[in-house]
Amino acid sequence: MSATTNAAEFERAQRSIPGGVNSPVRAFRSVGGVPRFLVSARGPYVTDSEGVEYVDLVSSWGPAILGHAHPQVVEAVQKAAAHGLSFGATTPAETDLAEVVRERVQAGGVHPVEKLRLVSTGTEATMTAIRLARGFTGRDVLIKFAGHYHGHSDSLLAEAGSGLATLALPASAGVPAATAALTIVVPYNDLAAVREVFRLRGDEIAAIIVEAAPANMGIVPPAEGFNAALADIAHAHGSLLIVDEVLTGFRVGAAGWWGLENAGRPVAEVHQDAPDAHHVPAYVPDLITFGKVIGGGMPLAALGGRADVMDHLAPLGPVYQAGTLSGNPVAVAAGLTTLRLADAGVYDALDAAARTVSAAVSEALAEAGVAHSVQRAGNLFSFTFGSETAPRDYVDVQAQQGYRYGPFFHAMLDAGVSLPPSVYEAWFVSAAHDEAAIDRIIAALPAAARAAAGA
Ligand code: PMP
Repeated sequence: MSATTNAAEFERAQRSIPGGVNSPVRAFRSVGGVPRFLVSARGPYVTDSEGVEYVDLVSSWGPAILGHAHPQVVEAVQKAAAHGLSFGATTPAETDLAEVVRERVQAGGVHPVEKLRLVSTGTEATMTAIRLARGFTGRDVLIKFAGHYHGHSDSLLAEAGSGLATLALPASAGVPAATAALTIVVPYNDLAAVREVFRLRGDEIAAIIVEAAPANMGIVPPAEGFNAALADIAHAHGSLLIVDEVLTGFRVGAAGWWGLENAGRPVAEVHQDAPDAHHVPAYVPDLITFGKVIGGGMPLAALGGRADVMDHLAPLGPVYQAGTLSGNPVAVAAGLTTLRLADAGVYDALDAAARTVSAAVSEALAEAGVAHSVQRAGNLFSFTFGSETAPRDYVDVQAQQGYRYGPFFHAMLDAGVSLPPSVYEAWFVSAAHDEAAIDRIIAALPAAARAAAGA
């Protein structure tokens, strides 16, 4: 018998931590009930404070592509830790990681990450990217899309999907109106709206920031050619395109969403006079942000891109950015080892697990008579309830019958499957989700689908 319960832990946590959690979605606000307090994780499983094991479809919100506590990653972390936890000085391994990222993120021989700066969280990566875009262009205005989440820095919290959507908040208190006024929020997948904003204010706009494939309002993939059109529009006005791959980078494929979108395009589509190139990217972002997988489960994130833009960062340039723990040796060891292990076989396993699980969920919901759509971006997927029409933007997503998700979520949890505790989040598989784990998910689905139908 376990010495504690999740309910007792939640009581205790709420006495000394706001809401009992250190990140809002963990509080189960939108699905109700008591959060599971986790004590260990291995492969596709997590175990809570009562000793109950769950198949995990959260995967730490993305990092755990190899499954939890992969032995080689753990060994690399232990070895690095034994050599010192933090130096606050340069290390050879940071350059190794920059080189690995520069090499991996390529399509058609184009490497958009010419230089890379390591930070500790995705929030820092996007916050720094927009400061850099502002410093480089000498402009202040930023465009973001409704329902896209880029972390919790002041400029990026307007209509930011994810945790704010879960709590039904349009924005955060505490963001100065003057800062919010510099962020123009545009409906997603709406190029006409983007063009109109540029027509009106093009010479004030420093950058467009976009999730490579949005995954923080559930999954809403970009319309064909959308990201490339954003690059064209931004560049025509002297603005930058920041592609946020914090969530998709190194998860949906070796070169992230940009790699998926741009690999394998026949050269004739864009470049008839370059017969030697087999694939030509449709667009090249000026800056790309990374997080999650790049740190292999440790606090590590990065921004990278055009050398001339990146060189505006201190100490070379006037845009200041720094971090006591930036490039932390233990985090770098976890990230490097994870990326080195994430080969084609790992991405095949992730894709196969995603296909099987998403198809099984859809089948169970259909069987129970629950109208839904399956949303996919590579191996990321989510479901919207109440309509078979795939949402194209945040307004569509919010129109769904979200109340069906709570009962579905709890039926799965009771059957030993841990889903993201919000209908606005993606589901995350890992390469460790083997047949046994997937069978447990499939076995739990019929009752959960019936619970959704009865909601
Ligand atoms: N950008 C995207 C696309 C994200 O999904 C997230 C986190 N879910 C972030 C930025 C912020 O990253 P972090 O939570 O590490 O600050």
